[in-house]
Amino acid sequence: MEEHKTLLERVGSAMDSGNLAYGKDDAIRDVEVLAALGMSGAQANKLASVFVHFVVAGDANALNDVRAAVREIVRRHDVAQGWNMSKNDKRRIEADVVLYLSSRACPTCKGVAFQRIPGAPMLSAARCQTCGGSGERVFLARLRAACHAALSTIEKLMANLQSDVRDRIFGRADRLFERGD
Ligand SMILES: [Zn+2]
Repeated sequence: MEEHKTLLERVGSAMDSGNLAYGKDDAIRDVEVLAALGMSGAQANKLASVFVHFVVAGDANALNDVRAAVREIVRRHDVAQGWNMSKNDKRRIEADVVLYLSSRACPTCKGVAFQRIPGAPMLSAARCQTCGGSGERVFLARLRAACHAALSTIEKLMANLQSDVRDRIFGRADRLFERGD
C-alpha cells in the first residue's frame, strides 16, 4: 500500500515533466495499440494519470477530467473502428463507462448477485435479473463492445503508465546498486 502511494506520487511528478518515454519489454504491444488510436506517449500518459487519480487513488475531484478522457477515448475508437456512432450513443457509453470506473457493482443487487427478499435482510435464492448473477454492472447489449473497448484501453493506459514509472524508479535503483557492487 505504501509503495503504491509512492508510485502514484511519482506518477504525478513524472506527468509534470511530460516526457515519459516508452519503448521496452512487454509495454510495446500496448503502446502499438495506443499508436493505432493516434495517441502519442505523452498524450496517453496524460489520460492515464487522470484514471489513476480517479480509479486507484479514489480522487473524486478527477471526475470531470475522467469524463473528458473517456469521451476522447470513445471518440478515437469510433473513428479508428469506423463505427460512426450517434452523439447519443457516444454520450451513453461515456456515462456508463464512468459509472463502471466509479463502481463496477451491479446497481440492482449491489454486487451480491442474488435478489433480495423484500422487507427482510436476506437474500433469496434467485439470481439478480439485471446482471444475471454476475454481480457486475452490465452495459446495454447494443453498446457493450464499445464500452469494453474503452475500458480495455483505459486499463492498458494505466498499466503502461505504472510499468513506465516502475521502470524509471527501479531501473534507476538497479543501476545504483550495480555500481555499488
Ligand atoms: Zn445484479
